[in-house]
Amino acid sequence: MPSRFDHTRAELTELLRGEPRYRVDQVWRGLYEQFAGPEEMTNLPKALRDALVTALPSALAPVVERVSDKGDTVKLLWQLDGGSRIETVLMLYPARATVCVSSQAGCAMGCGFCATGQAGFTRHLTTGEIVEQVVYTARRARELGRRLSNVVFMGMGEPLANEEAVWGAIERIQGDIGISARNITVSTVGLVPGIRRLAERPLPVNLAVSLHAANDALRDELVPINRRYPLDVLMQACRDYLRAKGRRLSFEWALIDGVNDRPSDATELARLCRSLPLAAHVNLIPLNPTPGYATKGSPLRTVYEFRDRLESLGVNVTVRANRGTDIDAACGQLAGGGSGNEPAASVSGPG
Ligand code: SAH
Ligand code: SF4
Repeated sequence: MPSRFDHTRAELTELLRGEPRYRVDQVWRGLYEQFAGPEEMTNLPKALRDALVTALPSALAPVVERVSDKGDTVKLLWQLDGGSRIETVLMLYPARATVCVSSQAGCAMGCGFCATGQAGFTRHLTTGEIVEQVVYTARRARELGRRLSNVVFMGMGEPLANEEAVWGAIERIQGDIGISARNITVSTVGLVPGIRRLAERPLPVNLAVSLHAANDALRDELVPINRRYPLDVLMQACRDYLRAKGRRLSFEWALIDGVNDRPSDATELARLCRSLPLAAHVNLIPLNPTPGYATKGSPLRTVYEFRDRLESLGVNVTVRANRGTDIDAACGQLAGGGSGNEPAASVSGPG
């Protein structure tokens, strides 16, 4: 059964056949603008409200919500229909509030340093399951006095391996929730056909490519899909994306101690950046610890040396502030389960 946010407006219209026409608008706005559940839509007659509670079930069952020590990161663990679990992270910054959404339960891409990859693939999320993560966190942000401003597809899963559902969600996030495409970022491990199709879609979303290595030998090891879409093919797709969209492209680079944090890695990365028609932006993330990967993140001194070297080679670069490591909500730590080190004080019930 399609969940609350899986229904298109046409399907909702069909569902509300026999009701006055303005009801479609009331329900749609209730869901996407007020972030209300049908039971809260007091502008509807009670009987209709009750019928909609059954007809528009929510897709995500909250399991636990954890708040970081500083209170600026909220991680939500959900159970999906069928039992698998996914995570969503809300990050509050001074000037923006960003939600990091999952697009799949697990991931089939097998990057060894990533907790989601270590867990393997379970299933694709539907459009409704993705949209509900955004609506729920938009409501949560509003309760905290904030407006959700950005959406990044950097949670569990590879968004370009689940293109249609992801695209359906992007249309809903932009058109109905009202978050501009310029504030939506799709992060990919480098699925070239997906990048090419994304370039042809009408909305100019941002593209982030998880590079982590700038030569094929190392990237083959870190990111196995590189064997199918090696760097020259990937970079050509990036160039074409930039020409088609004129949007900023970013490269994600998780710095792994002694693996991809050497001066020669920075030089190779700078060379790749220079081969693009528009300046790319590099995001450096010191590798976060995960249970299934022995190598550590680079020490901070190496991180800053790496950054300085890139800067001196003319590359735009930022070191991504590490968010939510105390609640295992940081990049690559989402595994859809408990971590065993949950400080009781930061665990609160759902809602
Ligand atoms: N599958 C997509 C999106 C989800 S991963 C992708 O790979 O781009 C979001 C980001 O976290 C990616 O850049 C990914 O490479 C990075 N990441 C994965 N594991 C990490 C870890 N242990 N430490 C830091 N970043 C990690
Ligand atoms: Fe999948 Fe991205 Fe993790 Fe690789 S880094 S396993 S593509 S979620």
